This record gives sequence, C-alpha cells and structure tokens, in this order.
Amino acid sequence: MTADDKNERDAGSIRTDQIGKVFVLVGKDVRKCLVCEQLFTRRTASEHARVVCMPGIGMKTGSK
Ligand SMILES: [Zn+2]
Repeated sequence: MTADDKNERDAGSIRTDQIGKVFVLVGKDVRKCLVCEQLFTRRTASEHARVVCMPGIGMKTGSK
C-alpha cells in the first residue's frame, strides 16, 4: 500500500513559496511583479509572492 501513502504525502506537500506569481528582474536587486507592476527587492519579492495583489495597484504614474 505504498501508492496511497505516497499520494497522501504528495497532497500534503503543497508549495507555499510559489503561487505562480511572476517577477521580472529589472535591476541588480530589483524585481517587478508582473501582476501589480510594483518594484520589490529580492526579500520583499518573496514576501510579496505570498500575498494577493491585483493589477493596477501600483500605478502612480498614469500613462492614460
Ligand atoms: Zn504584485
């Protein structure tokens, strides 16, 4: 019965450090979130990846 055990273990090991957020490296230590287009450092980016962000939040310079 290793199949059931493996299946349970696999379901329990959910990655919380990666939720599918995409960051683009724009500088030496600066990353931009492609969702909200805010700039983050390497540390804040990892923290930001855990929170929910929405597009258009960090748009201070309105290009419209
Ligand atoms: Zn974001």
